[in-house]
Amino acid sequence: MNVVDSEVVAAILQKQDYQITEEINEASLILVNTCSIRDNAEQRIRARLREFGRIKKENKEVSVGLIGCMAERLKEQLLEEEAVIDLVVGPDAYRELPRLLSQVELGQKGIDTLLSTTETYADIEPVRMDKNKVTSFVSIMRGCNNFCSYCVVPGTRGRERSRDPETIIAEATDLFENGYREVTLLGQNVNSYKWGDMEEGVSFEQLLDRVAGIDPLLRVRFATSHPKDMSDELLKVMAGRPNLCRSIHLPVQSGSSAVLKRMKRKYTREHYMDRVEAIRKYLPDASLSTDIIAGFCGETEEEHKQTLSLMEWAGYDLSFMFKYSERSETFAARKLEDDVPERVKTKRLNEIIELQLKLSLAGKQKDIGKSYEVLAEGTSKKSEEQLYGRTSQNKVVVFPRGLVKPGDYVHVKITDCTSATLLGVLNF
Ligand code: SF4
Repeated sequence: MNVVDSEVVAAILQKQDYQITEEINEASLILVNTCSIRDNAEQRIRARLREFGRIKKENKEVSVGLIGCMAERLKEQLLEEEAVIDLVVGPDAYRELPRLLSQVELGQKGIDTLLSTTETYADIEPVRMDKNKVTSFVSIMRGCNNFCSYCVVPGTRGRERSRDPETIIAEATDLFENGYREVTLLGQNVNSYKWGDMEEGVSFEQLLDRVAGIDPLLRVRFATSHPKDMSDELLKVMAGRPNLCRSIHLPVQSGSSAVLKRMKRKYTREHYMDRVEAIRKYLPDASLSTDIIAGFCGETEEEHKQTLSLMEWAGYDLSFMFKYSERSETFAARKLEDDVPERVKTKRLNEIIELQLKLSLAGKQKDIGKSYEVLAEGTSKKSEEQLYGRTSQNKVVVFPRGLVKPGDYVHVKITDCTSATLLGVLNF
């Protein structure tokens, strides 16, 4: 979401004659788009601000702005705590940047952290900052109404609102016509996408079908799905469109129903398993990825073991795994005790990571000998002679360049793998 938001901010500022530079010493304005999801993310941002303070000392003309969730969460407090900051702008206030920058030019501080119930930036054509010009993100909704007990997002990004489907189709069509071959539709909870009223409105399933209908050569992904809203109807739509990618990210967070209840996730272990079974039924070749939190409030050893057993059962191809990090002003911070000792959180996280490495490797070993259609994305980091791309299952494949260009579809026979990457040869 922050990548997309940065592209929206770049579009707003380009209209004010700003240009993007990759050379920080050339910049007259440095904007840091921030994440508040864990304390660690905020600490890293504060370290980065100290670096910008040194740049500012050498060049008094430079302004520094903090935008995104941390701006929304801490508001004026940031201006008080971090002298280097001139500008604080929340995720729904980016249209105010030109006005706020004029204030900064006059030597004042600029701040706007008003949340909106309608802002989707639907009419702004983002300035693409992706490097490969093959894959891109398209934001379809903003905010979240779920209020999971540990999460700051409803507070920092506001309530759910969906973007006009016509603007989404237009943006995805434009990307395809400009050579892009993959779009990822983004929202905090994409299954809740809804435009208009029930009778004549557009649901997420309908939107997905329309985007996939732009061209069979356009691959379509989406993130993130909420397990409570993952419907059979969505899976049927996916099964009917081969260009809807066979990869589903379904954050589980914990394998214990008791922990899920404390997390206010609104589903149980059994419901989650039922949804995975539905995925397996309609999309037998789909890969599955997830998010897991280790050591949430009150988590017992037995509850942790339930997470491990669910991981084994689901056979995740990929997981994003974190220790629980308490965020102030969430339900968990107010009402639950962050009582799992740090060393226990670390031990449990390590067990989760170790298991995931095993599952990722086993999943990829099963691909050896098979042939996959791969969308080439760019030159491999390790060798100019090799390209990397992805299968529909979102697995990275490295293969010899041959005459292939980024944006081409090729068939690759898998010959080897690591836990993170498949290796293969072109299969004509
Ligand atoms: S679904 Fe839960 S975890 Fe995800 S953004 Fe919404 S509140 Fe946060």
